[in-house]
Amino acid sequence: MQIKLSFLGAAQNVTGSQYLVETDSTKLLVDCGLYQERALKGRNWNPFFMPPQSLDAVLLTHAHLDHCGLLPKLTQKDFNQAIYSTAATAEITRIMLLDAGKLQEEDASFKKRRHKREKRKGKYPEIPLYTQEDAKAVFPLFSPVKYGEPVQVGEGVEASFHDAGHVLGASMVRLKIGQNGEQRTIIFSGDIGRWSKPMLEDPTLFDEADYVVVESTYGDRLLEPLEDTAKEFAEIVNATADKGGNIIIPSFALERSQEILYYLNKFQLEGRIPRLPVFLDSPMAISITEVFGNHPHLFDGEMKKLLRQEKSPFDFPELKLTRTTEESKAINRLTGSNIIIAGSGMCTG
Ligand SMILES: [Zn+2]
Repeated sequence: MQIKLSFLGAAQNVTGSQYLVETDSTKLLVDCGLYQERALKGRNWNPFFMPPQSLDAVLLTHAHLDHCGLLPKLTQKDFNQAIYSTAATAEITRIMLLDAGKLQEEDASFKKRRHKREKRKGKYPEIPLYTQEDAKAVFPLFSPVKYGEPVQVGEGVEASFHDAGHVLGASMVRLKIGQNGEQRTIIFSGDIGRWSKPMLEDPTLFDEADYVVVESTYGDRLLEPLEDTAKEFAEIVNATADKGGNIIIPSFALERSQEILYYLNKFQLEGRIPRLPVFLDSPMAISITEVFGNHPHLFDGEMKKLLRQEKSPFDFPELKLTRTTEESKAINRLTGSNIIIAGSGMCTG
């Protein structure tokens, strides 16, 4: 049996995940990620390694842009086959791609104005890599699958998605490829989460595989136990509240914002911090939190128990979601101590 596996991104670097699996009759792409390291962003403009129309399907591990962020470029080039992922990944990817399309548009018009003003030309085209419209063209291709349920993705090729414990909906993808009575199993880890992360099930353990393609971003370091980090977080909230200050937490919209809500809710329930108003001040984080609410069956036992007891971290009395600019501006006029979870973009300006 002939199977060809090509590493087209996230090889000797972190972002731009993309793998091509070829059998005699089937071509599959596992992930189609954006390069996000500054020095490598130019690679996003390169043509695809294979003609996008030649692919039979895309298998998407999760909704981070370094795994899904080039999907609109694929559809720009007439790819119109299924994109398999969990339903949660598909829903979050929609939000991420629309936002990415908007940023690409803004970035291109900013560059255009700047180059005109400075009377020079940049290294890359002054057009968006893709637009919000391009992002929307991806949506009809999503074909959601349930964790653990095998799906036929090509002739003699079966894929299944398994909990990766990384972000909501994130999966490890197992491919079983059968040809002429022979079978090979390949597992793509996608990004792997830590054990006992809040809300999510732990990563899946597999008994066997012929080949494993594994991420290793934090493979070389030991992380502090989660409970120690949580304790430190509670101490910072208390110290700031004691002085009457506001606690402003810049946060990624996916997973980190929901984790912060989880801990704040937990600390308040346990009496470890005072009951302060909590503002989720990021429309994108709010939309993603709604997706979390749509998939309660994906949560771990502890989180399911909280929901049964009506102690959801996404719906507690002190939590306020600021969807509009006016609501967001109103935060400036607040008095006393408040906790404000804001988009991570504010870290850089
Ligand atoms: Zn990731």
